[in-house]
Order: sequence, then structure tokens, then C-alpha cells
Amino acid sequence: MPDCIFCAIAQGEISARIVYEDDQVIAFEDANPQMPVHVLIIPKHHYSHIGDEVPEPLLGHLFATVATVARLKGVDEKGYRIIVNTGDDGRQTVHHLHVHVLGGALMPIRMGPAD
Ligand code: AMP
Ligand code: ZN
Repeated sequence: MPDCIFCAIAQGEISARIVYEDDQVIAFEDANPQMPVHVLIIPKHHYSHIGDEVPEPLLGHLFATVATVARLKGVDEKGYRIIVNTGDDGRQTVHHLHVHVLGGALMPIRMGPAD
């Protein structure tokens, strides 16, 4: 997808600190980390969001990669949070499906609606 920053990362046109990569997905450090561990996992193919007719095997692989990334980043035992911001109300800012993996410290108990 032209002008998609995550497509550019998937194609190696923009550099990123890669944590894990295979033929279907790539995981890289978030440029603006919100926690000590903050990794984004994306499918290499462009899908705007989770409802964008993503093949179910790919969705399965994307979420299986969460556990791989958690192990690689050393948060698998203490735990972590995964977030998939979707659409405007979900405050999705990059419109290429991505899973946030956040951890390395105790997360806030919960998030509520915006003020
Ligand atoms: P979201 O609000 O769920 O769309 O999150 C997009 C995330 O992408 C944010 O956490 C940004 O910090 C992150 N981000 C944007 N551009 C880059 C980039 N070039 N490399 C790594 N992370 C990025
Ligand atoms: Zn894209």
C-alpha cells in the first residue's frame, strides 16, 4: 500500500529494530515506547485493521507470534498486555493492522473512556 509506513518497514524501505521476522509477519520495537517492552507485530501484507478480511490462518499466526515475541523479550513469565487499536474510537493511528505487546513492568489496572 503506497504511503503506508508499516508496509515500508515490512519491505525494508524504512529501518526498524526488528525483534522477529518470518515469511508472514514482522515484529519490531515501537519508536515511541510506552513501556520498557513495547513491540509491534504486523502482517507483511497490508490489511487496514482486524476486520479487513484478514485470512484466519494469518490471524492465528499473528497471535501465535505474540508468544514468540514475549519469549524473545523475556516477558513471557511475568506477563504482558496485547492491544489492537482499531479505527478512530480505538485511536488507531497507523492504518496497517498491528498488535502492540507491552510489558516489562506492572501495567495500569485498566483503561477507561477518554476525558
Ligand atoms: P496505533 O495508535 O495503535 O496505530 O499505534 C501506532 C504505533 O506505531 C505507535 O505506538 C507509534 O509509536 C508506532 N510507530 C509509528 N511509526 C513508527 C515507526 N516508523 N517505527 C516504529 N514504530 C512506529
Ligand atoms: Zn501497510
